[in-house]
Amino acid sequence: MCVMTAGCARTSSSSAPPTAGDAKTFLDHVNDTTLKLGIAQAQAGWVQQNFITDDTEAIAAGASQAANDAGARFAKESTKYDKVDVPADQRRMLTLLKTSLVLATPADPTESDELSKIMARLESAYGKGKWCPDPSKPDTCKNIDDVTHIMSVPGNEKALREAWEGWHTISPPMKKDYQRFVELSNKGARELGFADTGTMWRSKYDMPPDAFTAELDRLWDQVRPLYLKLHAYARMKLHAKYGDSVPADGPIPAHLLGNIWAQDWSNIYALVSPPNADPGFNLTDILKKRKMPALDMVRTGEHFYTSLGFAPLPKTFWERSLFVRPKDRDVVCHASAWDVDYVEDVRIKMCIEPTAEDFTTIHHELGHNFYQRAYKDLPVLFRDSANDGFHEAIGDTIALSVTPEYLVKIKLLDKAPDTSRDLGLLMTRALEKISFLPFGLLVDQWRWKVFSGEVKPDQYNKAWWDLRLKYQGVAPPSPRGEEFFDPGAKYHVPDNTPYTRYFLAHILQFQFHRALSKIAGCTLPLNRCSTYESQEAGKRLNAMLSMGQSRPWPEALDALTGSRQMDATAIIDYFAPLSTWLDEQLKGQKVGW
Ligand SMILES: [Zn+2]
Repeated sequence: MCVMTAGCARTSSSSAPPTAGDAKTFLDHVNDTTLKLGIAQAQAGWVQQNFITDDTEAIAAGASQAANDAGARFAKESTKYDKVDVPADQRRMLTLLKTSLVLATPADPTESDELSKIMARLESAYGKGKWCPDPSKPDTCKNIDDVTHIMSVPGNEKALREAWEGWHTISPPMKKDYQRFVELSNKGARELGFADTGTMWRSKYDMPPDAFTAELDRLWDQVRPLYLKLHAYARMKLHAKYGDSVPADGPIPAHLLGNIWAQDWSNIYALVSPPNADPGFNLTDILKKRKMPALDMVRTGEHFYTSLGFAPLPKTFWERSLFVRPKDRDVVCHASAWDVDYVEDVRIKMCIEPTAEDFTTIHHELGHNFYQRAYKDLPVLFRDSANDGFHEAIGDTIALSVTPEYLVKIKLLDKAPDTSRDLGLLMTRALEKISFLPFGLLVDQWRWKVFSGEVKPDQYNKAWWDLRLKYQGVAPPSPRGEEFFDPGAKYHVPDNTPYTRYFLAHILQFQFHRALSKIAGCTLPLNRCSTYESQEAGKRLNAMLSMGQSRPWPEALDALTGSRQMDATAIIDYFAPLSTWLDEQLKGQKVGW
């Protein structure tokens, strides 16, 4: 069988043209190898994150490298079958192999090696990034957690500005590497037949890359009016708080929204909270008062899914997951969901505290696990979400069902508050979800322009701030010339992780929630609907989840929602009461910048 190496592929292409039989043999091999390497990678990653040592890091890095190398090899080899007539499911697998790559390394070994080294340097520049207010005292340097904390406390404009500028000192040294990374990754993408890396990223959405871009514009236009209102209201309140540091009718300074990237405004809730909007209960207090153990919180989350008709989680889930922070060692506590054997060995890894946030996160992480189990019987290459926005959206969809009525049903709350109290809950959610949308969109808008060459290296920073102004309506707190490289101060840029998936997930979760609520027969306002205990909703959800990525995503979307189009109007429905209230608050105020 001649499918193991690139060298081998070259030999065979010089002989007879490949046949449909060769394609089948190739795909069988790819499915087998992907499974083996994927399991090895998941096992090594699990051990590394649960027992952080130099050795486990090396083992995990080796397993990842093996899986990534194979992925790159398979992508290249799949182009051999571009013109071979094969059955539709095999054609889809061949296409997925090519479009699933985030980074295509050039065939030239020197260039490929250079690119790997650049990627490692960029990642470590971010990972080790520190703001050192006084370089003569290295122990006062601040890492990302410290800066995040400073940015989260509103009040002191100068302190926030210094922290914001401080964090952005980590990225100028990345600029040269990033420029070279763009050249080399584009070269690799062109070898696979794509115009550039950005086009390769946009090619994975079952439609021509340009049509996908137009789809994003359409979705943004649907939600933009709501964002503009939230923006104008926040600006009004920030102007009252900070005076002329915040213009009455211009863009909001990027350092005053409670987050380094102004992508989540939850931390300014106290400044913008609607009056009389206290829902009258505090889930964190309830969980703490009851001393609810982590295991019971996870059982409650599982029960949500079994109430929809899903099978209970396997015994191994309870034996192998991590639920509480171990006392004896360092672990990566960032919540995550795992699918170790691609079949039944699903797990979550969290350091659960009795808080409302963790309670919701459990529902979110389990969403990944139930998705993974739903598609476990498909060929390995189809065991993923319909597009990369779907996986994140599922967990969040279920988290939207954690409503006061649900809390009453599971006996955590005696009585749901009156809907007149909803403004507080809606504002909380809007500060987290609506504020994110423009940022979720613009990160890749910038990268796509950079990859295509429309934005040249001498305009990297200008283009970044043009987009932040256009979409988010934020401005830097001080002039940012090309001596800075502000995109690099966001993890996903040096780490080269595509970002559009988060925008899609934010749109899709509301669309899913609206569709499932309707199926469940909910007649309450959308923000009060919970699909808990609806077998009908569970059936429709499972119909979509069990398709994995075996079919184009519009079909999967159709299986759940009855529509083949993404639709952001569910967001408008969900936030309707808040939107009306904002209209009243904004009478006579300028909206926009
Ligand atoms: Zn997630």
